[in-house]
Amino acid sequence: MNCLGIESTAHTLGIGITKKEEVVANERSIYKPSPGKGIVPSEAAKHHSKTKKKVLEDALKKANIEKEDLDIVAVASGPGLPPCLLEGVKLAKKLSNQLKIPLVPVNHCIAHIEIGKKDCKSKDPLVQYVSGGNTQIISQSGNLYRIYGETLDIGIGNAFDKFARNLGLQMPGGPKIMQLAKKGENYIPLPYTVKGMDLAFSGLVTEATRKSENAEKEDIAYSFQETALSMLIEVTERALAHTKKEELLLTGGVAANTRLQEMNQLMAKEHQADFYVPKREYCGDNGAMIAYTGYIYREKNQDPKEVDINPTWRPNTYKIPLPK
Ligand code: AMP
Ligand code: MG
Repeated sequence: MNCLGIESTAHTLGIGITKKEEVVANERSIYKPSPGKGIVPSEAAKHHSKTKKKVLEDALKKANIEKEDLDIVAVASGPGLPPCLLEGVKLAKKLSNQLKIPLVPVNHCIAHIEIGKKDCKSKDPLVQYVSGGNTQIISQSGNLYRIYGETLDIGIGNAFDKFARNLGLQMPGGPKIMQLAKKGENYIPLPYTVKGMDLAFSGLVTEATRKSENAEKEDIAYSFQETALSMLIEVTERALAHTKKEELLLTGGVAANTRLQEMNQLMAKEHQADFYVPKREYCGDNGAMIAYTGYIYREKNQDPKEVDINPTWRPNTYKIPLPK
């Protein structure tokens, strides 16, 4: 059983292949915005359109199979940027029709969680999913994923990128802020916005940018990072105490932040929970997570539906097929 998964929800065009549960290919091409800019959806879609043939060829070659050996096509049909989603769904439909194989729509957020669980051999974690566009504290409850807390405005990765851009640093800004923050020594007070279980980052970006005019870059980066990550940890800790989950899984592109890993590790320990971070190639957007999720959900007899893009698809509306 070979499943091909297509990821195109934002900046990454990823194609992965799984043989049963094993990942045998995970190829990608990442769109880079022009200097000083964030993602322009139509430009990202153009990038996906241009690179998909090559990424598909690379994935088949890596997996050492022919197109005709595929049994399922899975595609991330949401949430994401509509022009980008369209490119992935178009390719998926073409392959499914051409090869006469089922097409399985996969929720992008759930795919991040499932590949993370597989990679870390974690069974039932509370998940801190932190990427460019998404920030959610989420975990399984019955046959649904439940969102315990989330951002009310922009994703935390986006907040790092915007703040970095305001400091004159290129995309992706997250890793650059993290490096600067390591050399920061003085904490500059910034807005800490936790509303119940939810978070907001826009005010933090604005105020940190304003204060950056009269501060050392390293200090303001340090203060920005400590504030944003502490907000996230507060909400995650409350969800962990409430759900009493014994595992905490950190995933999404921002999982690469070593300070965030350290904070989570400490907090999980205090709650006697095991802490996990998947391999880097599975934290960022990738095709393997779509292939794997398409395969496991299909194995549990999910009917392939009429597939269309679903730009605002929330992971808590996705009925998880439970084993019979
Ligand atoms: P994703 O959307 O999951 O592909 O993740 C990309 C996001 O992760 C971008 O917003 C990056 O700036 C952010 N990111 C990557 N590495 C780091 C880091 N070390 N610290 C903070 N953010 C990061
Ligand atoms: Mg993502």
